[in-house]
Order: sequence, then C-alpha cells, then structure tokens
Amino acid sequence: MKPKVFVSRMLPQSALDIIKQNCDMELNTADVRLSKQELIDKIRDKEGLLCLLTDTIDAEVLNSSPTLKIVANVAVGYDNIDVKAATQRKIMVTNTPGVLDNTTGDFTWALLLAVARRVVEADKFTRAGLYKEWGLQLFLGADVYGKTLGIIGLGRIGQVVAKRAQGFDMRILYYDVVRAKPEIEERYKATFVDKDTLLRESDFVTLHVPLLPETTHFISTRELNLMKPTAFLINASRGPVVDEAALVEALRTRRIAGAALDVYEKEPEIHPGLIPLDNVVLAPHIASASVETRTKMAVMAAENLVAGVTGKRPPNLVNPEVLQ
Ligand code: NAP
Repeated sequence: MKPKVFVSRMLPQSALDIIKQNCDMELNTADVRLSKQELIDKIRDKEGLLCLLTDTIDAEVLNSSPTLKIVANVAVGYDNIDVKAATQRKIMVTNTPGVLDNTTGDFTWALLLAVARRVVEADKFTRAGLYKEWGLQLFLGADVYGKTLGIIGLGRIGQVVAKRAQGFDMRILYYDVVRAKPEIEERYKATFVDKDTLLRESDFVTLHVPLLPETTHFISTRELNLMKPTAFLINASRGPVVDEAALVEALRTRRIAGAALDVYEKEPEIHPGLIPLDNVVLAPHIASASVETRTKMAVMAAENLVAGVTGKRPPNLVNPEVLQ
C-alpha cells in the first residue's frame, strides 16, 4: 500500500506526478487556503504533508496526526512551521533551499532599481496620459551605480545580490551573525561591518535574513534613524523583519528616501499607511515567482515528501536530529 499524503494546494504537474507515482495523494484541488481545522481533518490519517508558506503548521496541527512523518514546505523559509514541536514529535521538516536564489536575487534588484529610479511612479504617470514633453527634471531618481550597498544576511540569496552588485560598481558592506569566509568576502569584494555601521554608511540596505525571534523587528525606529535620509530599504526576506509602523513613519516624514517591499508584517494585510506613499514600491511576495523556479521548488518539495514517507532521508531536512 502506498503511503497516504496530503497536498495543501495545487502544484505544477511535474511535482504532482512525482507524488502520485509514489504515494496515495489527496490534493486540495479547490486551491484555496484551508482553515486550521480543515488542515487538521485532512492530515489526521496521513504520513506526509506538503504545504505552502501560507499554511500555519503549529504544535496543534502537528499533534493532531498520530501518523505524520514529514512536513515538506515549498519555500526556503520555514517560519510558518513550529520546527521545535515537529522535532519533539520526531516529524521531519524540509524546505527548498538553493533553487530560488538567483530568481529571488534578481527580484531584489528589480525592487531596488524600481524604487531608486521611480519606475512604478513613472509608469502610472505615463499611463495616465501625463507625459507631454521630455523634462530635464522629470522623475529624478537616485543613481545606483557606484553607491554603497549594505547586505544584511550574506547567505545564499545575499551572495547572489552581492554578485549582481559587481556590475553596478558598488561598494559592498555586509552584516551577518557569522562573518563569511575570506574567499567569499574576496569574491564579492564585501566588507564585514557591524549592523550600525552598515546602516549609517549604506545608500541601499537590503535584508536577506531568515525570520527568527532575533531578526523580528531587526529594522525599527532606531535603525531607520541611523540610515541616511537619501537611503533606501529593500525587503525581500520576511515581513516581520521590519517594524512596518516604524517604516511607514520614516517614509512619510522622508526620514529615509524610500523602500521597496515584497513581504509584509501581517501578510497579506498591508499597513494602510504604506498605500498612499509614492516613495515605496509594493510587491505581493513574488521574489521567487518565475515559472522555472516555482516548478523547481515544487518538485524539490515533492521529492522531499516522497523520501520522507518511503523511509529515505529527505535531501533538505532542516531538523536532522529527528533521525538520530
Ligand atoms: P540563508 O542562506 O540561510 O541566509 C541567511 C543568512 O542570514 C545566513 O548567512 C545567516 O547566518 C544570516 N543570519 C541568520 N540570523 C541572523 C541574524 N540574527 N543577524 C544577521 N544575520 C543572520 O538563507 P537564504 O536562502 O539566503 O534565504 C534568506 C531568507 O530569505 C529566507 O529565510 C526566507 O525567509 C527569505 N526568502 C524570501 C523570498 C521571497 O519570496 N520574498 C524568497 C526566498 C527566500 P547563518 O547561516 O550563520 O545562520
């Protein structure tokens, strides 16, 4: 008998095929987010769960299934899963690292360039039929090339962002909980500095840390006050890394020049103070959203799921201690 699994949302066909070949799959074909109780009802008799970052997998959900062996997340971040509770129950948790680095790094640059060069504002203006003649002072933005880029979290995605910055002849500063190896610093010409120095000296501050208790509100009023009034903040990590109310205030009062956000503190809710501001670019959590990358992520999660329910070690296990 094939192991029973539940897939919480629709996936690309190639990922579904992998699961179907190996498992007795129940799929949420309606592709709408399930309530906690619906999720609990679905996984009660399942050995595996494949879920998205919009599914909250807390201790109550994990403890509701006596048979659950693995939760395979279709994301590199797994802050939607209570890993500690899963580990206590010997449930494996997996993520999808690596396959989304380039796509997420590219989108970070799309955000950075969009806010610095006022692309979204200019698009709205042009569509509104307001472009009447070339103007010497029309939509003056900030130069990107030659400026200082501050990367907070020089991990997989942070390094992709640093690599792209070479083409813009930027000075690169970074802060991380652990200093990178000398060869990494050399490769990206990145200088390790403390958090406050990075905030004081950077023209663009970009966030690439995981969401943890230590990184929650990593950027708040104190940090925003350290930034230059001409500086921009880019967040394609997780919403709660930034204190959104503090950011609204800094943007509204032009304490900093602008921001570009892919993620929000209470996603999908967006702080109402952000909406009327023209110095912020807002995206609906799409940094990894290319056809190729989302397919790779789903396939990777499917492979993790199948490994976990067929007695193999999943390739991307985040809590290997469950196997000890
Ligand atoms: P990663 O390779 O683990 O890099 C994260 C880096 O942040 C690591 O170097 C890590 O150091 C560092 N870090 C951890 N805690 C820190 C702290 N308190 N202070 C400073 N640095 C700290 O992860 P990644 O694959 O680059 O992904 C980063 C995050 O981006 C993910 O966790 C996810 O939430 C987010 N993300 C968002 C999207 C999107 O769609 N917007 C897409 C992909 C990823 P250590 O390795 O030493 O812990």
